[in-house]
Amino acid sequence: MSRSVLVTGGNRGIGLAIARAFADAGDKVAITYRSGEPPEGFLAVKCDITDSEQVDQAYKEIEAEHGPVEVLVANAGVTKDQLLMRMSEEDFTSVLDTNLTGAFRVVKRANRAMLRARKGRVVLISSVVGLYGGPGQANYAASKAGLVGFARSLARELGSRNITFNVVAPGFVDTDMTKVLTDEQREGIVKQVPLGRYAKPEEIAATVRFLASDDASYITGAVIPVDGGLGMGH
Ligand code: NDP
Repeated sequence: MSRSVLVTGGNRGIGLAIARAFADAGDKVAITYRSGEPPEGFLAVKCDITDSEQVDQAYKEIEAEHGPVEVLVANAGVTKDQLLMRMSEEDFTSVLDTNLTGAFRVVKRANRAMLRARKGRVVLISSVVGLYGGPGQANYAASKAGLVGFARSLARELGSRNITFNVVAPGFVDTDMTKVLTDEQREGIVKQVPLGRYAKPEEIAATVRFLASDDASYITGAVIPVDGGLGMGH
């Protein structure tokens, strides 16, 4: 059955791999983008998730084309790494505003139709760093850990309505976000990963698609690591 799927930040990186995985399975996929030319093959809606008006407008466009969103993947995210001494309040609040409050905005807007339909699937993209921590990433880690409490509260609040909320916690993945790391930093990270390499975006996408599938109908409030073993034990 072809479902209406929304992937925020589906124009590149992990989000694009997730969008492709759903489209390949026959779903109707909408993606958000902020600027430039979005990739072809999806319903691309311009939307900055820090702006509730833009989120509402994006949903209206998707509802008109694909019907109410049945599967939401809150993937859009940013980093602004800095040691605490040098981290400005803006560095902190802007990362929280995108990664955590941005997820709140898109989940809240999706919830209306999911409640009416008495079903829905929500997958939130967190990070190994949310549970493990990372020097220079206090803002990012706080936002990603916040997603876990957010998802688990909603899993309890809305389980009776057959809406599931799950979190995927990727390790290091080859995308624009990790391109900023030096070769030395990358080598240091890879040494700590039991599988000894970065993930491909498609490896994250496969887990997201599983969590939105019928095979995952009894999974909610889970945090699934896809991190090559980097964060195990947490
Ligand atoms: P990229 O930097 O490659 O892509 C980030 C995506 O988020 C882009 O599509 C970007 O849109 C979108 N985005 C950022 N801010 C906003 C905003 N305010 N409104 C709408 N869209 C926004 O990152 P990745 O693909 O690597 O990361 C995707 C997710 O996975 C993020 O949540 C990230 O934290 C998480 N993650 C990534 C890991 C990695 O190693 N790469 C590891 C663990 C988690 P635009 O093109 O408009 O900028």
